[in-house]
Amino acid sequence: MFIANVDHRLTTFVDGSPVDVETASGGRFGSSVQAAYERWDELRSWAAGIGAAGAPASMPAELQAPSPRPRQVFGIGLNYRDHAEEAGMKIPDFPMTFTKFASCIAGPSTPVGVSGDATDWEVELVVVIGRPAYRVTAADAWAHVAGLTIGQDLSDRERQFAGEPPQFNIGKSLPGYGPTGPWLATADEFADSGDLGIRCFLDGEKVQESRTSQLIFPVPELIEKLSADVRLLPGDLIFTGTPSGVGFARTPRRSLRPGQILLSEIEGIGQLATHLVSPEPTVSPVSA
Ligand code: ZN
Repeated sequence: MFIANVDHRLTTFVDGSPVDVETASGGRFGSSVQAAYERWDELRSWAAGIGAAGAPASMPAELQAPSPRPRQVFGIGLNYRDHAEEAGMKIPDFPMTFTKFASCIAGPSTPVGVSGDATDWEVELVVVIGRPAYRVTAADAWAHVAGLTIGQDLSDRERQFAGEPPQFNIGKSLPGYGPTGPWLATADEFADSGDLGIRCFLDGEKVQESRTSQLIFPVPELIEKLSADVRLLPGDLIFTGTPSGVGFARTPRRSLRPGQILLSEIEGIGQLATHLVSPEPTVSPVSA
């Protein structure tokens, strides 16, 4: 099943065509995508009954974030070996965890204002939690996942590495610095949800390419380790880490500029296009 936030309305797809869930369910479910995660099992079985399965046939114009107001957003650093090496960091023996404050979450239709001249790209697989998860084992982890989407862990490197210790949470939480989308795909839509091609293009130039099978801590292990200490809540996001090819590890260093288009792609999900603009006027990236 695919779930999209079309013009702020909970939408699924039957034979590629959009179905407005509130209308089709006669009001049993509301229009809010965020609220749907609280009743995820119920929604899944209703959607199965109307034949919701498969990818959207086309991209609706007004797409918002698939989980626009998550209560918690986890970011995992250095979770691909080649990225840890290019960053000159040790391979972690426990997931290196930070937060992207929820106000940075944006959708596919939101232009992102680029702050300063040190903003970097990081394409990432993003997990959306579907059932409360606390002390869940890796073997049970997928049962707590609503689905997968694409994200950019946009990072202002100047802010991120200001001071000692560094300020990951601030540098990665500027307004709009968490674009997600274009929609959510449930794990059963993939032949192997643990091995998906992941790529990032800047104005058409391929800058990152890997497979999610290269994650040091794959999705089930991340959920086991995070939920050992923290309650994961429906709608929460986990940015699972980025492969090599980011701008700050290049010689010379590269960063994003207004006017560019950042295209993020994950096999079986689709493409997330992020339009980069000047930070003025102030954008309001959070929308439900
Ligand atoms: Zn990241």
